[in-house]
Amino acid sequence: MKYSLIADVYKKIEATTKRLEMIDYLVELLEHTSIEIIDKVIYLTQGKLHPNWMGLPEIGIAEKMAAKAVSLAIQISTEDIMENIKKTGDLGISTENLLKMNRLREPTTQLTVTKVYDTLDEVSKASGPGSSKRKIEKLATLIMDALPLEARYIIRTVTSQLRLGIGDMTLLDALAIAFTGSKENRGVLERTYNITSDLGNVAKTVAWKGIDGIKEAKVVVGKPVRMMLAQRLSTVEEIIGKLAGKCSAEYKLDGERFQLHKQDKRVNIYSRRLENITSMYPDVVQLAVSSIKAKEAIVEGEGVAIQADTGELKPFQELMQRRRKYRIKEMAEKIPVAVFLFDCLYVDGEDLTTKPYTIRRKKLEEIVEEKTRFLITPSKISRNPSEIRKFFDEAISKGCEGLIIKSTSLNSIYRAGARSWLWVKWKRSYQSKMIEPVDLTVVGAFMGRGKRAGTYGALLTTAYDKSNDVFRTVCKVGSGFTDNNLKNMLKMFNKHITTHKNARVDSILKADIWFKPAIVMEVIGDEITLSPVHSCAFNNIRKESGLAIRFPRFTGRWRTDKSPEDSTSVNEIIEMYRSQLKKTTK
Ligand code: AMP
Repeated sequence: MKYSLIADVYKKIEATTKRLEMIDYLVELLEHTSIEIIDKVIYLTQGKLHPNWMGLPEIGIAEKMAAKAVSLAIQISTEDIMENIKKTGDLGISTENLLKMNRLREPTTQLTVTKVYDTLDEVSKASGPGSSKRKIEKLATLIMDALPLEARYIIRTVTSQLRLGIGDMTLLDALAIAFTGSKENRGVLERTYNITSDLGNVAKTVAWKGIDGIKEAKVVVGKPVRMMLAQRLSTVEEIIGKLAGKCSAEYKLDGERFQLHKQDKRVNIYSRRLENITSMYPDVVQLAVSSIKAKEAIVEGEGVAIQADTGELKPFQELMQRRRKYRIKEMAEKIPVAVFLFDCLYVDGEDLTTKPYTIRRKKLEEIVEEKTRFLITPSKISRNPSEIRKFFDEAISKGCEGLIIKSTSLNSIYRAGARSWLWVKWKRSYQSKMIEPVDLTVVGAFMGRGKRAGTYGALLTTAYDKSNDVFRTVCKVGSGFTDNNLKNMLKMFNKHITTHKNARVDSILKADIWFKPAIVMEVIGDEITLSPVHSCAFNNIRKESGLAIRFPRFTGRWRTDKSPEDSTSVNEIIEMYRSQLKKTTK
């Protein structure tokens, strides 16, 4: 399969602002792809070479190094290329334009997908002395054989700037249409994706074995399960009502989600975004090996930073200092971590994701031998509001964020990858009518004036509409930023800038600058109001009106642990609006 086919489709996808058209182009691409390489086509389209959790070297070389490769391929100095980028704003476009005019030689071969993928894989794996030179040479050879449009996408891929903004759900829609004939089957594909976290593999299986083959997928140690998430409500009475009185309240710890996969003496740790973060937490690996009695197990919990001498819980920001590549041992001593386990997904050949909460929790207690820093999350089975409220106060006083109240009903399975009503979070209130902060994805910015000249005046933020895989705007956030935030913001967002609104963004407002949905920020406001200029829940509560957050402020917390698809959903905003109405009309 020729790489030019992919490049042509990417160009069309880039030009469209309609999600349905995007799906059509993807279907066209998948239908022209042979099964042997369909996984590679999927990864390339996601702008990577492997699923993140494999922990294999990824592409993502610096722009300067890529420019050196281009320089070698077209015999123009790196300085001139960097100068050209200033005009186009994009090394991909610069390479494409320059290649039309200059070439060291004519292509000797037509690039295939396999050739491009394998070369990028070799480039990503090259390491040790002289590896920079080898990377540049390999890349330059690829560019010499590329057509100008192909070069645009190769360069963007190697510099992690592909920016197609295709979400997992959009790819699953396209796979369902291409290989089962109907978008209706997305749910079946999604379940397999949720328990294996590998879209390339889902594609290969459905293309090879059809819908029946896909249903046979199983949970296995070593492949992370996409994590179950919680809905939110603001009063304990509402939560007990929603769970029909069958509930178990657990401390909501303020740290980082860990999914631990144990196989004999080997342990892997996956983050909420399914990155392999094992190397950052050698202390947790040791604790897991010595405390999990089963031979094979998948358990989940929250890693929390603790005060070394007192064992007190510390906030999330402290823990983030453990997210590093260097000085790991030193930081492990400075900021020790305690793990609070709350779920058990698999034990010695048995898939527990389809079992109810009480069975999973019992299994967790059976296989874990608790240690001072490896514990089972405190919980209380109760349907009594005042008892749960007391438990909530106890959790807050110990440094937790609140509670997660979980269903104990017979159907309280582990719903992989879903934000489910089987788990409801109840967070500590802030001093405003809007009870808790929300996590919003930034999709655009408005330039600042006066004191803010030269940086952003406000960010356009969105909630996620999962069923349509679209981000819908809820507010412009212009306050709450420190001078440091403002200083760093331009750089932080720079690599996500796009020339037009992303096809997965629904916005009535026209931002000065558009971003690919990538960065999630925590925002608190005064209340949720109706608004004709925001597209979140448009026409849902009232005709010609959406929902917006009034007086939004940045809390100072960039949610780097969340992907855009993990941000607060449109449905949650609707729920928050409704529960606010109930309170004011009471
Ligand atoms: P939020 O990040 O506000 O959406 O809240 C959900 C997160 O709370 C989960 O992803 C976990 O990282 C964290 N969490 C803390 N304690 C618990 C618990 N007992 N059960 C489930 N999740 C928990």
